[in-house]
Amino acid sequence: MDHVTPLALAYDAVAAARQVAATAAMRAADQDRDQGFPAEDVADLARLGLLAAPVPSMAGGAGLGEEPGARRLAAVLRLVGYGSLALGRLYEGHVNALQLVGLYGGPEQRERLFADARDGHLFGVWNTEPPEGGLTLEDGAGGLRLAGVKTFASGAGYVTRALVTSRGPGGSGTLMLVVPLKTGTRADLSAWRSHGMRASATGTLDFAGIAVAAEDILGGPDDYFRQPDFSGGAWRFAAVQLGGIEAVFDVWRGHLAATGRGGDPHQLARLGEGAIAVEGARLWVERAAQAVSDPALPPERVVALVNLARLAVERAGLDVLQLAQRSVGLQGFLRPHALERLSRDLATYLRQPGPDRALTAAAEEILRAGGRAGDLWDGAAA
Ligand SMILES: Cc1cc2nc3c(=O)[nH]c(=O)nc-3n(C[C@H](O)[C@H](O)[C@H](O)COP(=O)(O)OP(=O)(O)OC[C@H]3O[C@@H](n4cnc5c(N)ncnc54)[C@H](O)[C@@H]3O)c2cc1C
Repeated sequence: MDHVTPLALAYDAVAAARQVAATAAMRAADQDRDQGFPAEDVADLARLGLLAAPVPSMAGGAGLGEEPGARRLAAVLRLVGYGSLALGRLYEGHVNALQLVGLYGGPEQRERLFADARDGHLFGVWNTEPPEGGLTLEDGAGGLRLAGVKTFASGAGYVTRALVTSRGPGGSGTLMLVVPLKTGTRADLSAWRSHGMRASATGTLDFAGIAVAAEDILGGPDDYFRQPDFSGGAWRFAAVQLGGIEAVFDVWRGHLAATGRGGDPHQLARLGEGAIAVEGARLWVERAAQAVSDPALPPERVVALVNLARLAVERAGLDVLQLAQRSVGLQGFLRPHALERLSRDLATYLRQPGPDRALTAAAEEILRAGGRAGDLWDGAAA
């Protein structure tokens, strides 16, 4: 039964995220290998309450993300990403799944799946699939069964509650399902020979033959793509990316201080430009998180703003990478310099779907909106 508890007030998710980030940063170099996975850090997320934290306060959880402007959630995602971008990617997927359960789950589904989060199950959201052979739900003699695969699925082989999209039987639109999985089964990580984010276990998951019951299906056809939640959710990966940008910035700054090269005006100018990029990204993330929960902004305006935010954060990340690599020089490309790994992780995680379309779609909305530029994102004027 849904009920409010004082947990939402007592639990300090940001302090927990700082703690997780500190240990994750120390372990990240060891996990930076093919088949790597931050298992101990995920165990820390569970132990320190962060896997359960997104459970809504109305369901007895800490309600992480319900606060005004999602300020605590933004800080948590940024901090976890600062410690380890691979861990941040995994945690963002977990948060996304629980938010979708909260939005579209029925009472029984919410109770069961929120209990799973409290019990330490790691959730993931797996939407990406190959052009051929994506997931379909088939209605046969033995009932509903899945066929096909998901690709670029983070935590493949480790996620035990996978929220996946699948074509429904007889072309009935895209359905959302939460599929229970056993660790170490059905996952193929052989294609994840990546430049960075090696520890995110981003692989292919074969769902062939898995039986699906009615209670595994979340919401109705195409709910997954409902706006502004679908595109607006991009603010969360931007928050994780911001953590990765800050980590690159700090290692760069530390290198200049440690090598005594910080007094040089060129180095100072680059560091100043980097600081502008970092703070700009932070302001964009906060603004986007705020817009998503602003009831006065129409959905298409929220989506446009978040699209701009994700691209501004991407730009900031690319700028900071370039500046840091130029400032540190060859040392930053040699293991075990921390910049070497952090740069690869950030460059890889900056790759997100359809960046060109995000920009032009936002521009189309801005063109359509008319009015004054200063009123574009003002709910009262929109
Ligand atoms: C570390 C990591 C973990 C991930 N984990 C998950 C996960 O758990 N679940 C999940 O569902 N996905 C996951 N993904 C996949 C992710 O959601 C995106 O699908 C992926 O990052 C897309 O990157 P891309 O550069 O190939 O994008 P694309 O969208 O293919 O973009 C590549 C380029 O092509 C352009 N482009 C895009 N479409 C077209 C078109 N039709 N015509 C012409 N040009 C086009 C783009 O603008 C861009 O310039 C993960 C990705 C990463 C990097």
